[in-house]
Amino acid sequence: MTKATDLSRPRPRAGVMDIEAYVPGKSGAHGAVKVHKLSSNENPLGSSPKVVEAVREVAGRLEFYPDGAATRLREAIGEAHGLNPANIVCSNGSDEVLGLLAQTYLSPGDEAIFTEHGFLVYKIYIQAAGAVPVSVKETDERANVDAILAAVTPNTKIVFLANPNNPTGTYLPFEEIRRLHAGLPKHVLLVLDAAYAEYVRRNDYEAGVELVGNSQNVVMTRTFSKIHGLGGMRIGWMYGPGHIVDAINRMRGPFNVSAAAIEAGVAALKDRAHVDRTIAHNEQWLAWLSQELTGLGLRVTPSVGNFVLIHFPADPKHSAERADAWLAERGYILRRVAAYGFPNALRMTVGTEEANRGVVASLAAFLKS
Ligand SMILES: *Cc1c(COP(=O)(O)O)cnc(C)c1O
Repeated sequence: MTKATDLSRPRPRAGVMDIEAYVPGKSGAHGAVKVHKLSSNENPLGSSPKVVEAVREVAGRLEFYPDGAATRLREAIGEAHGLNPANIVCSNGSDEVLGLLAQTYLSPGDEAIFTEHGFLVYKIYIQAAGAVPVSVKETDERANVDAILAAVTPNTKIVFLANPNNPTGTYLPFEEIRRLHAGLPKHVLLVLDAAYAEYVRRNDYEAGVELVGNSQNVVMTRTFSKIHGLGGMRIGWMYGPGHIVDAINRMRGPFNVSAAAIEAGVAALKDRAHVDRTIAHNEQWLAWLSQELTGLGLRVTPSVGNFVLIHFPADPKHSAERADAWLAERGYILRRVAAYGFPNALRMTVGTEEANRGVVASLAAFLKS
């Protein structure tokens, strides 16, 4: 036990040891079976071959520091999305920019809101900034705008919302986002985390570009980890009003995006065909998985992302924990989501055809066992 007066070694500041470290999806299984990692929403088609080429090329000049402003990447993002590069900040995965937003806009004692089954990284960064995490109830596994607005106090500084959300896969139509924004005080920052935006096939969905452009208190964060299959490269970005971009640029590390990441991102954006293939694959297999799993008698939360949340029966013989072990033995690594408030569910990334068919067949056998 260390006491506040213990001067025998360095001590983290108050609150640090209250943070529960993020537990990433498992990546391996024991034994000789072929492993299908379906635990981190990675792209089953991998990354574009053009990215691999670009990274090889960078490998020949690693002694040089990257462009600290990631200008080529911001310009490529701006061109692909029709945005002004001056309003973009690139980051070491979107996780980094989420953390920077918390560090920049939260002081100890401030409150920041996220939702009941929201992405856990928000809570970690809120606590890391010394602020108070405020979790707001969802309705039917979907964010509830009225509940969020009711939770706003004079201390609230940020609302973090993943749209679509991970691990539920549910989304809020843009009318709801507008209503949320309209109800927030102007000094409260609304962070729209659109990590899965490219996968959504719904007419009433928008990632948030227009709202960012028309207000002073909204940012949108995006990632190359999902649609572009570049989780290992760590590339994310934020689109926001100039005053927020300016503040984040002061807070970030001067070379927070590596030379390889910059070139990988530029190359990924050029390969539109790879993105289209990824979207088509996901559309086909998300529908197939949802239907087949429901056919097995399992409840599946309706998802617009590249993953499904599968709920298991109350019968302890067929719990999520047991299903997880059963699948892992057969090489299918899914994600436990108890920390997200789903003790009896598993999240499954939409995988290759082989993986998807394999999981459904294994779960059919599991439920009969
Ligand atoms: C995967 C994911 C991210 C992306 O994280 P990176 O740091 O860019 O890899 C962000 N938000 C949500 C909700 C996610 O699921």
